[in-house]
Amino acid sequence: MTKSPAFAPRLLSSRAESPDVRTFRFASPPGFAFVPGQFLLLHFEDDPRTWRAYSLCSPPARAAEWFELTVGTVGAFSARLGALRPGAESGLAARGPFGRWTYDGSPARAVLVSGGTGLAPFRAMIAHALDRGAAARLALRASARTPSRLLYRAEYDAWRRAGVDVRATITRPGELGLGERWDGETGRWTSERVLAAGGPGAVYYLCGPAGLVNGLGAGLRAAGVPAERVRSEAWGDYADQLT
Ligand SMILES: Cc1cc2nc3c(=O)[nH]c(=O)nc-3n(C[C@H](O)[C@H](O)[C@H](O)COP(=O)(O)OP(=O)(O)OC[C@H]3O[C@@H](n4cnc5c(N)ncnc54)[C@H](O)[C@@H]3O)c2cc1C
Repeated sequence: MTKSPAFAPRLLSSRAESPDVRTFRFASPPGFAFVPGQFLLLHFEDDPRTWRAYSLCSPPARAAEWFELTVGTVGAFSARLGALRPGAESGLAARGPFGRWTYDGSPARAVLVSGGTGLAPFRAMIAHALDRGAAARLALRASARTPSRLLYRAEYDAWRRAGVDVRATITRPGELGLGERWDGETGRWTSERVLAAGGPGAVYYLCGPAGLVNGLGAGLRAAGVPAERVRSEAWGDYADQLT
């Protein structure tokens, strides 16, 4: 495991994003800072061999005070994390931030394509662009199985007002829950749909399940986008439980 010093993150608050997903706000350790796109490695002290990565999803500008992680409950580790409550002894340890899949606010247009919880690091990238007055360079193409699984929906209007081109699609419109409505786009983001959000020189950031990330990445490269302008972060080869 890495040599960067571990810290014990203190949970300040948490909120539900969807039935299976929660966002956790932790107090930052002294001197904490990160670049959007980076992640932390977490483990519980009674199980030091099990580490999991979670993307920093909060505004980098607030990192000196607090940071947020959004966690989808899919297995034993994420379920334990999902059950954390402020004030309780958590036994949680963190290392990081890590990762070179980052967005530096460069002048190129950036198209951010996510599946499910893959939206988490893009929330930090969008906050960073908003702070720098660069939001109009960003297009977000989010996807989730059903509307209730679309993360951060309450924030989309503010992102749009700042100039981000925000669109979301639902991939399983036949599985809407009781009382759920969706009048928006349906189906997966294809390379054609994603390219339409880009333009000459655009950079494509892809994040989420390996199927989405690798499939779209191959489609973009086949359409002539140079490999260095397709920046992929695949979280694993999972069937899209939450996407
Ligand atoms: C760089 C990086 C950043 C990540 N950031 C986040 C993040 O911000 N939020 C987050 O929830 N997860 C994130 N993950 C995934 C996370 O590290 C764990 O893999 C995940 O929480 C599952 O761990 P587990 O032990 O609970 O389940 P496991 O027992 O390890 O896995 C259970 C099943 O769920 C699948 N799975 C793993 N991740 C997901 C997911 N996100 N959605 C649906 N199915 C999944 C696994 O492939 C497996 O089939 C990230 C992974 C990487 C590599």
